[in-house]
Amino acid sequence: MRKQEGLETADVVVVGGGVIGLAIARALAMRGAGRVFLIERTHPGAEASRAAAGMLAPQAEADGADAFFELACASRNLYPALADALREETGTDIELERTGTLYLAFTDEDEREIEHRFAWQRRAGLSVERLSGDEARGLEPCISTLVRSALRFPQDVQVENRRLIAALSASIEKRGVRLLVETNVESLIIERGRVAGVDTSRGVVSAPVVVVATGAWTSRLTSTDKAAPPLSIEPVRGQMLCFETNPALSARHVIYSPRGYIVPRLDGRLLAGTTAERAGFEKRVTAGGIQAITSHALEIAPAISDLPLVDSWAGLRPRAQDDWPVLGACSETEGLFYATGHYRNGILLAPLTGELIADEITTNITPPQLQAFSPDRFHLSTVGHVR
Ligand SMILES: Cc1cc2nc3c(=O)[nH]c(=O)nc-3n(C[C@H](O)[C@H](O)[C@H](O)COP(=O)(O)OP(=O)(O)OC[C@H]3O[C@@H](n4cnc5c(N)ncnc54)[C@H](O)[C@@H]3O)c2cc1C
Repeated sequence: MRKQEGLETADVVVVGGGVIGLAIARALAMRGAGRVFLIERTHPGAEASRAAAGMLAPQAEADGADAFFELACASRNLYPALADALREETGTDIELERTGTLYLAFTDEDEREIEHRFAWQRRAGLSVERLSGDEARGLEPCISTLVRSALRFPQDVQVENRRLIAALSASIEKRGVRLLVETNVESLIIERGRVAGVDTSRGVVSAPVVVVATGAWTSRLTSTDKAAPPLSIEPVRGQMLCFETNPALSARHVIYSPRGYIVPRLDGRLLAGTTAERAGFEKRVTAGGIQAITSHALEIAPAISDLPLVDSWAGLRPRAQDDWPVLGACSETEGLFYATGHYRNGILLAPLTGELIADEITTNITPPQLQAFSPDRFHLSTVGHVR
């Protein structure tokens, strides 16, 4: 496609069409934020948001309450209303499956881990149940006979993330968001300390507000003329296997161990994950990854060994230096907002990220829930193309 100068003018540009950019664009459109453009290098949900397992499970792995835990639980709790709204708007069922999550213990160490988790979550008044191995197997007969005990988290649920992306994409188009696909944002345009738009592979889009939601590629949006380091987001590869189940292995819960997890989908697929690898931008499935994931899945449910492996994929999680998402206005550059670094929890955090970023943009007030996640915590230099 030929590049044209001065392509368009927008009120807000959202860069990146993963689950985060889509959720923000929808929330902005719902608030009447004017001409909202979503600019995506390939097509919506092509990257980490498609690769994910769709678990909405803040409690299963949490060893204490902090700002991140509060954000994650609040976002999870938005899902039932979001699922209803998206079904109403688009006719798409995002398959919010509410059976719950099991977390299994096989060893002394695993049992100490779940005992601690049970104790603090009970004290905090959270919904969690302690089960014996037999009780866990009573709920899910596929679980290994070696399981000694388990926790059940009734409110940690799952969503079909690929359906979620399709529904969000349909919703934003219906709500009048301008979706520019196959359009690479090459640089942010910054003039005298404030954002003026983006320079894309098809030309310039002018806008007084730009939201960077480019996932693992965020650090690539910098200009070359800056000595100080920009926001650092690194890709962390996760591989995933997909098996086809049969009636003998028809789990309903998401099932974790401290080493891996399996996620049964309503259509009969069973996902097994995952890895956490620093492999740059190489989105490959490897022999080592398949071996590790398979052995952790077999530990949970030995009958998986008879299932056909029907698919596999890898995705790049966006990770900030402190593992927490980077959310909100960048005080050094007026009009520039970040929504990135969602690392292992972007599907979970998408609904609340969308609401809070849209609130901050439309009201000019930083919601208190965003304070701990401010980009300013990294003392950023100005990023982008400075004029
Ligand atoms: C194997 C695996 C399992 C996971 N499981 C879960 C889970 O169970 N639950 C959960 O909550 N999270 C999970 N995650 C994490 C979750 O997938 C991510 O946190 C989330 O998808 C991040 O969303 P995003 O929109 O920021 O990034 P992405 O989905 O990667 O989207 C970023 C988008 O920006 C676009 N882009 C980048 N640069 C540019 C540019 N210059 N111009 C235009 N467009 C650009 C990309 O093409 C991409 O579409 C998992 C991740 C992986 C890899």
